[in-house]
Amino acid sequence: MNKISYIDEEDISGKRVLLRADFDVALDAHNAIADDFRIKQRIPTLQHLLKNKNKIICVSKLGRPKERDPKLSLKIIVQRLRRYLPGIKIRLINDFLTEKPSVFANQQPDEILVLENIRYYPQEKQNDKAFAQKLAALADVYVNDAFAMCHRPEASVVGVPQFLPSYAGLQLKQEIKMITAVISTPKKPLVVIIGGAKISTKIAVISRLIEIADYVILGGGLANVFFRAERYLIGSSICEYEMVLKARQLLYLAEQQGTKIILPTDVLFGDPDNTEKRGVVVKIKDNKIPKGKMILDIGPETKALYGSIIAKAKTVIWNGPVGLFENPAYRQGTDFIYYAIAHNIDAISIVGGGDTLSAISNKQYLTNITHVSTGGGAMLEFIEKGALPGIEALKK
Ligand code: ADP
Ligand code: MG
Repeated sequence: MNKISYIDEEDISGKRVLLRADFDVALDAHNAIADDFRIKQRIPTLQHLLKNKNKIICVSKLGRPKERDPKLSLKIIVQRLRRYLPGIKIRLINDFLTEKPSVFANQQPDEILVLENIRYYPQEKQNDKAFAQKLAALADVYVNDAFAMCHRPEASVVGVPQFLPSYAGLQLKQEIKMITAVISTPKKPLVVIIGGAKISTKIAVISRLIEIADYVILGGGLANVFFRAERYLIGSSICEYEMVLKARQLLYLAEQQGTKIILPTDVLFGDPDNTEKRGVVVKIKDNKIPKGKMILDIGPETKALYGSIIAKAKTVIWNGPVGLFENPAYRQGTDFIYYAIAHNIDAISIVGGGDTLSAISNKQYLTNITHVSTGGGAMLEFIEKGALPGIEALKK
């Protein structure tokens, strides 16, 4: 049987555990932690393993270093973990390949070792077999609790589980169970909201969602491609012009499937760098966006339309901000989408994506969202294919 084993359904005790954690947090301009949601999400798995007297060695990446880069050291992660796990000794291992073997041999059950940023090693991304073997040699079992990494075939994700008994952690378990349940038998109407900058990164999942959803609501930079598909003027807005034909095909596919693709009817345009001045509201069909100006958020009529559709949904999936939310002048549309979902307490809701999560991280009513997924690319690929390399690697 091709089955995944979960850490809370098996007896894992007194073992050396290599935990592929996900501490890939957002950093601010001073390289401090901007949002530690991803650290907090790992605490239940860490506590579960600690309770059963396991010795944990954590593996994670932070950012995208090509080589050693002190700005992306996991030192700040170790400091934050100490705050959430009082009484536990937490120690950073600068280079596990050259560290004294006694450090690992003498590890205590109330001590966690955190390996330095695994992307410091080029072998990680190359999924180098010998490198995976060296990681595996540190432990008796492997646990993956890094859903957001599961679409990436890297050594610590798919390499190590070839050499050790392997399990899914509590956060990965929740991701698998929730997303699988929603996709296999969604309560209807199923409303999907897709925003973000680039349609090219989301086209495959949109095609798949058209097959299962009742409404596919679009917003953000990727909606501009659809405006061009319908020949509206978009000024100097971001747009992947090479995708316009593909957008027309999607509109056709949706019509065939009886799925409604909903586009903004009005937008705010302006300058992306101007945080003082509010954008100007225009109807898309009026073709009034001047050259040099960019569409940066959805307008009031669109909010009312999207809000009414989301209010009637029984299942909601949301990925991607519907505007340039980093500029406070253009974050209202994204905030509105968030509150529309959070206030529909009858619906099952899944929200995911790196930028989407940072847009909503400090909001009220977050517990009203059924499942906040830490995966952006991973969530979309899992919805699209129903499988991910990192999850398949755990199956026996
Ligand atoms: P996620 O990480 O949640 O999957 P994406 O990475 O796909 O989301 O997209 C997020 C980015 O899209 C944000 O940086 C946001 O500013 C940008 N964006 C959204 N709408 C627009 C727009 N109209 N013009 C330019 N950028 C936009
Ligand atoms: Mg993103």
